[in-house]
Amino acid sequence: MSVAHNPAHPDGENASLHSAISANGVPVIGEQYQVAPRCGVAVSVKAGQQLTVINTHGTQVCDFWAFASDDTNEYLSMHHLHTALNSVFPKVGDRLVSNLRRTMMTIVEDTSPGVHDTVIASCDHQRYVDLGCREYHDNCADNLRMAMMAIGERIPVVPAPFNLWMNIPIASDGSIQWLAPVSSAGDCMTFRAEIDSIAVMSACPQDMTPVNGDDCVPVELHFFVQN
Ligand SMILES: [Zn+2]
Repeated sequence: MSVAHNPAHPDGENASLHSAISANGVPVIGEQYQVAPRCGVAVSVKAGQQLTVINTHGTQVCDFWAFASDDTNEYLSMHHLHTALNSVFPKVGDRLVSNLRRTMMTIVEDTSPGVHDTVIASCDHQRYVDLGCREYHDNCADNLRMAMMAIGERIPVVPAPFNLWMNIPIASDGSIQWLAPVSSAGDCMTFRAEIDSIAVMSACPQDMTPVNGDDCVPVELHFFVQN
């Protein structure tokens, strides 16, 4: 007998479940927070506020999602974004839209060379099983689920993430490669919320392909919110 899949329920557990920045995800303005290695954190960002994500070491991919604060059935959608931007590579000034085609955020700063990914699904339990893992492996899908649970939220689906600094070149024949980020230590991206949103960041725990650097060692990220 098969068990119904619950999109809000993680396949395992890590510190993401107990490391919320506050009970409801509301940040102290200007305070810098850590996304611990292999973990995820949710943060509430009001319309007009700016969220800055820092690639502390330059080698770390951040799986990034945003949900409408008043209804998590509306979320940042990479598929709708591709249509809105006529591109799979968002850049400064671009508006990031939801699955209802509403602008949720605008990219206002990117100090990196601008190499990010919008086509690859988050790593999840089955991805690591497929790669040969025999035991539970930290993964971005569960980090998202746990980060939302940690602030009292449940998600209806694991949306395709905006993979900050993930270097997935797409060749003219449609084939892709999994390469290390080209960003530098301290590179940051800043997003202005256009509606009240909950953003979630996962410091991707992928250590079986070199997306988090050629040494395959996942590390931490940082972030802060400003008015
Ligand atoms: Zn991941």
